[in-house]
Amino acid sequence: MARVYNFSAGPSTLPVQVLEKAGAEILDYNGSGQSVMEMSHRSKVFDEIIKEAEALMRELYQIPDNYKVLFLQGGASAQFSAIPLNFMNGSGKADYIITGQWAKKAFQEAQKYGDVRAAASSADKTFSYIPKTSAGDFRDDADYVYICMNNTIYGTVYRELPPVGGKTLIADISSCALSEPLDISKFGMVYFGAQKNVAPAGLVVAIIREDLLGNARDICPVMMDYKIQADADSLYNTPPCWTIYICKLVLEWIKETFGSLEGLKAHNERKAKILYDFLDESSMFRGTVVPEDRSLMNVPFVTDSDELNAKFIKEAEAAGFVNLKGHRSVGGMRASIYNAMPIEGVEKLVDFMKKFEEENA
Ligand SMILES: *Cc1c(COP(=O)(O)O)cnc(C)c1O
Repeated sequence: MARVYNFSAGPSTLPVQVLEKAGAEILDYNGSGQSVMEMSHRSKVFDEIIKEAEALMRELYQIPDNYKVLFLQGGASAQFSAIPLNFMNGSGKADYIITGQWAKKAFQEAQKYGDVRAAASSADKTFSYIPKTSAGDFRDDADYVYICMNNTIYGTVYRELPPVGGKTLIADISSCALSEPLDISKFGMVYFGAQKNVAPAGLVVAIIREDLLGNARDICPVMMDYKIQADADSLYNTPPCWTIYICKLVLEWIKETFGSLEGLKAHNERKAKILYDFLDESSMFRGTVVPEDRSLMNVPFVTDSDELNAKFIKEAEAAGFVNLKGHRSVGGMRASIYNAMPIEGVEKLVDFMKKFEEENA
């Protein structure tokens, strides 16, 4: 068996220990005589899995007691509709910061439901930085302010949250979920599609302050009504049991391997620094993001030539470094180095890049 180093932006690499455990338990989960893929979501054994996943999520993120943790479906993209349907319920206004494709898609979807404004954008420089904002940039009566915390495609991240002057802040944290500590009390809601950093596709985790629940619009589809999902403990209908189980295994892996999200952050910083340091010193490759807003998770980079980019991607793939092609809107390359990417994978990639640079100078 030969495993590649998978730098995909999502679905993405999972910890080998988690895959091995899931493999070992595939025919008989914990003496139940069944796979988690086969069991009833109303069974006692699955109840323990989902409760344990929630408990670990609460422990790692230190989630305050007045927040609900929901396990949902429909991808992060379904929340682009659910968020206005649940929360744009006062003035009917919401302000969005456009830092990339995912924020823009959320913004465009929300426009169907109310008076939605782009309070700031970094589109002028291909989203290569995080725009500076102050509380005065948002409308006084906006029901919420929306951000995308880590921009998967462009490789920028909010190092500090934008000041919103007491307004409800909602964040898409899909591509930086559980990669470092986050003060959940600063948000009305955070959510993430699990397939970037936490589990296979099929699961969205939403963490929502309780007082915001219960005001969804009448037209809100029942599956998108966060209050209904919260009241049903995420079991309004059949949840993605297998994906929730893998999520639980990943959370256990984080706790056992790194102790806490601080520990994981230190690991992720060390890992990203190896690649960024090389990009800064290389005369062939360079990063595309301003240094102060660089993501620890998604690292886009380019050479000055499209031919060289294509050659690099092809040769890297042959050497076992796969999915390094950049998003079609940026071109070049992107290495997604999520929690489960080992440091060794980045070290070997950098060795390969050095060799490529020498051979093609
Ligand atoms: C991948 C991604 C999405 C879309 O996720 P789906 O689950 O495919 O809908 C949204 N936001 C961010 C930040 C992402 O990285």
